Amino acid sequence: MKLPIRVLCWHYLAAAALTAQCAAVTARNGDAWYAIGLFCCSLLSVVAYAREHAEARQRHAAAVRAERIARVCAPRFREDDAAFVLATTCCERWWTSAGVEHDEACARKGQSA
Ligand SMILES: [Zn+2]
Repeated sequence: MKLPIRVLCWHYLAAAALTAQCAAVTARNGDAWYAIGLFCCSLLSVVAYAREHAEARQRHAAAVRAERIARVCAPRFREDDAAFVLATTCCERWWTSAGVEHDEACARKGQSA
């Protein structure tokens, strides 16, 4: 969990504790409806904390999963792969002649296609 998210979660918990305390004080003074309202606000802060925490865990799991997929799918070139051929092209004439001829200045001129 990143630091800004962690700070936000601690603020949610502090807000929940503060509003719960306010609800208790209000209930002691005999105003039940305000106490119920403040208690509901306290619960909303707890729900916000839980939601933020769950989303952070999901983001972390998705990042780990994406990294695993990226490692498995990393390109491994073989000479018969089209990606390998595209990565090893040398000159324009090689393209236009379907790999038969090379330009005069091509470094692979003497090599077979
Ligand atoms: Zn060439």
